[in-house]
Amino acid sequence: MIGTNYEAEAVYVLSQILLDPKDICALLLSDCGTFFDPLVATWNQTIPPNKPPLIPKKPVQAGKPTLRVLHISDPHIDMDYQIGSEVSSILSIPNANLLIRICDAPYWMVDNLLQQIAQRHKDIDYVIVTGDFESHAIWDYARDTHQRMIRNVSQLIKSHFPDKQIYFALGNHEGVPLDSFAPSFTPEEFHMDWLYGTVADEWKPYVPADQDKIIRFNGCYMVKPWPGFRIISLNNGLGDSLNLFLFINQTDPDGTMTWLSDQLLDAEKAGDKVHIVAHIPPGTPEALEGWSLNYYKLAIRFENTIAAHIMAHVHSEGFSVIYEDPEDFNSRPVDVVFSAPCMTPYSRYNPTYRIYTIDGRYDGSTYQVIDFEEWIMNLTVANQPPYDPTVEQLYPSILKASPFP
Ligand SMILES: [Zn+2]
Repeated sequence: MIGTNYEAEAVYVLSQILLDPKDICALLLSDCGTFFDPLVATWNQTIPPNKPPLIPKKPVQAGKPTLRVLHISDPHIDMDYQIGSEVSSILSIPNANLLIRICDAPYWMVDNLLQQIAQRHKDIDYVIVTGDFESHAIWDYARDTHQRMIRNVSQLIKSHFPDKQIYFALGNHEGVPLDSFAPSFTPEEFHMDWLYGTVADEWKPYVPADQDKIIRFNGCYMVKPWPGFRIISLNNGLGDSLNLFLFINQTDPDGTMTWLSDQLLDAEKAGDKVHIVAHIPPGTPEALEGWSLNYYKLAIRFENTIAAHIMAHVHSEGFSVIYEDPEDFNSRPVDVVFSAPCMTPYSRYNPTYRIYTIDGRYDGSTYQVIDFEEWIMNLTVANQPPYDPTVEQLYPSILKASPFP
């Protein structure tokens, strides 16, 4: 097993942080030295000037064409899953339904769910997959098993949607150890070629050739599915608050925030709309404050251009609001970051997927999210005779299901 572990990473990170005896003192004692807290630090991303006049978001005109976009995320597949093991059962263990929802997804459950999605929703225009293929058995993480999982799951999804475009983003569980995405200032042993190279190879059918270099460098890419519309896949493991390498230097890791800014500026100049697809929503505890604040600045600067922020990671259904002044929720709301639910039952969820209805595709499309619906594999039903795991609709419209007016 080719692995890297927390110990090597922690020793290296501490050796870089604690270069001065005063730093060690500050780490151990509150009244000695100056303690640098990376979790509340930030940096000043240069934001392109000349923001164009605001085009206020309006409800989309009825009767226009719409896109149907499948969003699946966080499968967290447990390859060692055994039917009948503690806290687990789907399809075959009667009377175990009270225990089934605190384990990760068996491979065959994800396979079955994808098969049902593909059969049921022939009208899907394209698919978004926002990462976290690995189980929560983080003590078992190793580069070679992660590579195998990425190949396997990418091919599994492709096999169920052979004629669809699929746009993937990296999740924090793709890191080895968990959350580790070493920027290139670190020694070579920590570099991410093993991961970024694997996804560059596996996701090649959907990533344009001119993006090969950037995906191999920082795990990000941009694609133009058709004229007027772009999808940016952002590796926000480079803003992950548990990515210890960022404790050494979190400023614009490998120029990734600058790359995002350049992409948005280019799209703005072309008059294109953009969806940003990523894993960890900014503002959540696993996003560094500095990363989140700079992301918000770009989201505000490019609010005319960014039509949707599509993320996941939290497993439950969620959304967050980007405000014009991120420190003041009484300021103007600029946009919404969607967080889709998970395919894994971990923890205590029914495996879920989401389908967005999006304004497009026609000349002048806003590419705004108009609505979304959700579907679940009801594990309680699946664990009762005749043990048939069918998918059912949780709700047909968030606009109607939401408690918000
Ligand atoms: Zn995650």
